[in-house]
This record gives sequence, C-alpha cells and structure tokens, in this order.
Amino acid sequence: MNSQVTPLITRAANRASKRSPDDSFDYLIVGAGFAGSVLAERLASQLNARILLVERRSHIGGNAHDRFDDEGVLIHPYGPHIFHTNSSDIFDYLGQFTRWRPYQHRVLASVDGQLLPMPINLNTLNGLYGLGLNAFDMEKFLDGVAEKKDDIRTSEDVVVNRVGRDLYNKFFRGYTRKQWGLDPSELDASVTARVPTRTNRDDRYFNDTYQAMPLHGYTRMFENMLRHPNIRLMLNTDYKDIEWVVPWKHMIYTGPVDAFFDFRFGKLPYRSLKFEHVTRQQEWVQSVGTINHPNDYGYTRVSEFKHLTGQRHPCTSLVYEYPMADGNPYYPIPRPENTELYRRYEREAEALNEVSFVGRLATYKYYNMDQVVGQALSLFKRLKDRRDAEVHNS
Ligand SMILES: Cc1cc2nc3c(=O)[nH]c(=O)nc-3n(C[C@H](O)[C@H](O)[C@H](O)COP(=O)(O)OP(=O)(O)OC[C@H]3O[C@@H](n4cnc5c(N)ncnc54)[C@H](O)[C@@H]3O)c2cc1C
Repeated sequence: MNSQVTPLITRAANRASKRSPDDSFDYLIVGAGFAGSVLAERLASQLNARILLVERRSHIGGNAHDRFDDEGVLIHPYGPHIFHTNSSDIFDYLGQFTRWRPYQHRVLASVDGQLLPMPINLNTLNGLYGLGLNAFDMEKFLDGVAEKKDDIRTSEDVVVNRVGRDLYNKFFRGYTRKQWGLDPSELDASVTARVPTRTNRDDRYFNDTYQAMPLHGYTRMFENMLRHPNIRLMLNTDYKDIEWVVPWKHMIYTGPVDAFFDFRFGKLPYRSLKFEHVTRQQEWVQSVGTINHPNDYGYTRVSEFKHLTGQRHPCTSLVYEYPMADGNPYYPIPRPENTELYRRYEREAEALNEVSFVGRLATYKYYNMDQVVGQALSLFKRLKDRRDAEVHNS
C-alpha cells in the first residue's frame, strides 16, 4: 500500500479494522531511542501491556547508542552524549537500569593559539587578554565591553549584550556560523541563551545537580530497560512496512513528525552532522573531553571518548563533528517560520487520538536526554490515566 497517497482518515480506519482483542499489540512504538524505550519499559512493566517496538536502525538507543570500535574503545557513533539533569526523579528512574559513574564534562576552546575554558569564565578572560582579574573585576570588565541592547531578538544580540564584540567574534560567531550555516544575527535568541558566562573559575560545562555517565554505557542501559517478556523488538524495520500487517491498538511515534504526515506541508528544516571517528595508537590526545574550534577547520569540535566513559585503554578514540546541511536530522533550526510550519503538523498530530507523538523528532524541538525522558514519563502518566478511565467505565 502506498502511504504517500493514503489519506490519514483511511489509514486510521485501516488500523482500527486490524484490531482484535486477542492477538493485537497494545502499543506499537516507533523508535527505540530514549523516548520509545522509556515508554516501552513503563507500559510493559507497570501496565502489563504488550509492546511492539520497531526501530529502523540496526540497534537500540537512538542517537544515544554506544558501541566498541575495532580497537575495543567505547565510542558514541552519533557524537558525544553526556548525561546531566536537575531532576532526581529522572536520575533515579534511569538508575534502575544502570549504575552511574560521576563525570563532569569540561570543554576548552582553541582561540588565538590558546586553549581556554568554555563557557567563558574568569580564567578564559585572564588567559585571553593576559590579565589578572578577580570575580569583581570581571563583572566590571564585562560591563565595560558589553554592547547593551534594549531589544534582544537574535543570538548575536544575546552575546554582545553580555560579553561585547571581541569575545563574541572570538568564541561565538565562527562556531555558530559553522554549526548552523547562518550568522548569529539570523538566528533566534534561544540558540545562544543556553550558554552561560561565569565570573568565577568554575570550568564545568554543565551546572546540573546530577552529572554522570552510565557505568557500562548507554546501550547496556537500554538493554536492561527493554529486557521484559512483554516487549518485542524489531530492528532494521521501518514502521511503515508493518503498520498495516501487525495489529495494534495505540501507536507511540518518536520519528520525524513531517515524515509521519508524508511531508504534506513541506519538510521541516534540520541541521545535520557528519561524524569522523578516529582511533590513535596513544593513550591520550586531549586534556579534556571536548575541544571547540570556533575559528579554524571545517569541524566545530573534537571529543575524546575515554574522558567521558572512564575506560582505560592503551588506544584512544576521538570524533570530529562537521556540520552539514543534509543528512540525518539532528538539530531543528530555531527560526520563526520553522516553528510556524511545525505548528501545522502539531495541529494534525493533536487530532489523532490513536497516535501519541513524543521525543525530539516528533515534537521538532532540541531536547537533552533528560528532557526526553521527562516528556516520555509524562506521556506514560497520561496513557495510564486513560487506561484507568477505560477500565473504570467498562
Ligand atoms: C551530536 C549530538 C550530541 C548530543 N549530546 C547530548 C548530550 O551530551 N547530552 C544530552 O542530554 N543530550 C544530547 N543530545 C540529544 C540527545 O541525542 C536526544 O535528547 C535524544 O537522543 C533524543 O531521544 P529520542 O528518543 O527523542 O530520539 P532519537 O534518539 O533520535 O530516537 C528516535 C528513533 O526513531 C527511529 N525512527 C525514526 N523514524 C522511524 C521509522 N519510520 N521507523 C522506525 N524507526 C524510526 C530512529 O532511527 C531513532 O533511533 C545530543 C544530540 C546530538 C545530535
């Protein structure tokens, strides 16, 4: 059946006709990343629901998947993933499936021939300009160089308003242009609003209360989540190939929302990345997990996995990230016209009672892993309430 030409109303009717109380799955879950795996685990373990989890790729874990490379070094094929959250609920929930290794990520930026802490802190400023400022002086220094703006609309506005033009040019402008293929003056304020500036010497990349990595990796954690007799996993399968064949009652969709609707309003724009993985026959290359290259080379940053994973190994593996216009959808491009296009898809999605949309692709928003887990746990609660109401009324 060609889903390109099948109106949704017919698709819904076809799905409904497949229902059979005895042999159908309670939930067809599309995508075995964080969103799909958390829901599979919760629905199976808490509601005793029967789950079919369908994943297009050859592995579980979505973009957080990790694996050992040819030398036996644990790598993240889709770029470095560092877990951090302020939510004890989310940390404890995932803690049922993994032990944690405390890890605080540190990033240096290669600027003017030096490696300087990022986000900008007191040491960054003193190192860059050869100064001996203290925290109080730094605040005054930044006030002196900041270009104050009344109306902060773009990413450029956010940064020059806080740290002035020189720091903006050295640390942010080139990086943002590479990362997004757009000048910061063309990008939403939200893109750089997340990057803090510190007047102390705190050189951790994140501030969150919980910062840790799964002790034996993400894939092992996902395996533990999905180890339930009610969960049936199909890898290497696009849901479109089986949605008509396998009976199910409710779908949870974590893929791209525009693809679900056959791009009927047009494609939602994404920024993509090419990952170049390199293994070196030496123990260490970098002094920290990630080095940013805002002004040189085609890549934005280089990450060395053993810092993140804590693995001991005589070799070391690194990943170079090259931003691309085309390829796997990684970062939704935050511009007003894209949000407007997403809203049209969102209205269609909300009208479908038998499908729930969850995760970063299905809601067209850049979420960290903990946020996706939080979103999935909230959806679980709504589905449980709905199920409880159905049981009560039957
Ligand atoms: C380079 C990079 C670095 C990141 N670093 C961090 C970090 O350090 N810390 C952090 O918290 N977050 C990080 N993130 C964000 C993190 O990757 C996401 O929050 C998380 O992976 C989202 O999970 P998800 O389940 O929503 O989506 P995904 O992980 O993308 O899972 C969706 C799954 O659905 C599958 N799928 C799609 N369409 C179909 C279909 N038609 N049929 C079957 N299956 C389908 C896909 O193959 C995919 O496996 C990073 C993201 C990127 C791109």
